[in-house]
Amino acid sequence: MKSLRCDICHKDITTAISQRSYFHVANRDMCEACHDQLQALIKPVVRTKQPFNYEWYDRLVRDSIEKAIAKGKWEAR
Ligand SMILES: [Zn+2]
Repeated sequence: MKSLRCDICHKDITTAISQRSYFHVANRDMCEACHDQLQALIKPVVRTKQPFNYEWYDRLVRDSIEKAIAKGKWEAR
């Protein structure tokens, strides 16, 4: 079995089952805990966006992930 490492918290993801214990988002691999934090971080931002725009959403997700990688932790905007 392929062993993966979370790009954000650098923890090993032992059971690499797609969409269950790890998530592949914006060309990054992340563990479930980090994916939960990403969702918690962007949800309030997404709620204020009217009308919804997928390109904007995609950029928001990417920016949030890259920022978390650069800082080594999840941080509210
Ligand atoms: Zn992680």
